[in-house]
Amino acid sequence: MRRRPPNRLGTGTTIAQVRDLRVTLGGALILDGVTLPVRTGEVLALVGPNGAGKSTLLNALCGDVPWQGEVCLYGEPLDHWSQVEMAMRRAVMLQQAMISFPFTVGHIVAMGRAPWIGTEAEEQADEAVRTALTLADVVSFVDRVFSSLSGGERARVSLARALAQRTQLLLLDEPTAALDLHHQEDVLQLARSRAAEGDAVVVVLHDLNLAAGYADQVAVLSRGALAAYGPPRVVLTAPLLSKVYQHDVEVWPHPATGEPVILPKRG
Ligand code: ADP
Ligand code: MG
Repeated sequence: MRRRPPNRLGTGTTIAQVRDLRVTLGGALILDGVTLPVRTGEVLALVGPNGAGKSTLLNALCGDVPWQGEVCLYGEPLDHWSQVEMAMRRAVMLQQAMISFPFTVGHIVAMGRAPWIGTEAEEQADEAVRTALTLADVVSFVDRVFSSLSGGERARVSLARALAQRTQLLLLDEPTAALDLHHQEDVLQLARSRAAEGDAVVVVLHDLNLAAGYADQVAVLSRGALAAYGPPRVVLTAPLLSKVYQHDVEVWPHPATGEPVILPKRG
């Protein structure tokens, strides 16, 4: 199998791009004409109601669903890359980690290094795994079997596996869904520091306040289409969010930072 190692891209480069993306699953049009760039040095938050197509968009960026339109990775159409070349360029944390064998946490995270075996980067494996285990705060249960972990612990292991791959593009599908407040902030701070180092991070979030606080760009998906795309202060407005979520939403500027603070209207 062809295995061209990636060149590191400069900050502000489009590392992935979808243009007029359409995805049909089970006879239904799930994504309809989505155009979106993913740039290095940025955290891109994907938000939107359940079933809007967020996971499908991440799957399309990975080449894991049949698509029409254009999906590019490192400036080339996805089908120019072999599986292992894609694995060297992007790491993904899926919404539901399916691991049915009794592997330990350490083994699962180390598996992320498989694409690099036999390359110059092979020697980084131990250090990459150790760092990822620490960053995701899973060191204390590294020898436990995955299936014995709680939902939040499993999510952090999946995150560690994605981090250990050290790809310049990191795709995270609801990494914070099962996490407590402290670990949620950890994950988003991690995303920010990866972006500061010049990586590109795409993160699916339900918590709009996390998107407001940590994302450079926010893409709002609604019924398979892109309803808005831009910086949080531009995109996260009460009229747009109320319409997309079909629930009245209030937005205020944070008194210290000016970032949007978002709450559903109650009562
Ligand atoms: P999100 O991640 O935004 O919640 P998804 O991308 O997972 O949404 O799903 C978008 C829509 O596509 C949902 O309505 C879901 O039920 C539907 N869908 C996903 N996979 C399939 C499939 N294999 N066959 C039919 N419909 C699907
Ligand atoms: Mg999803």
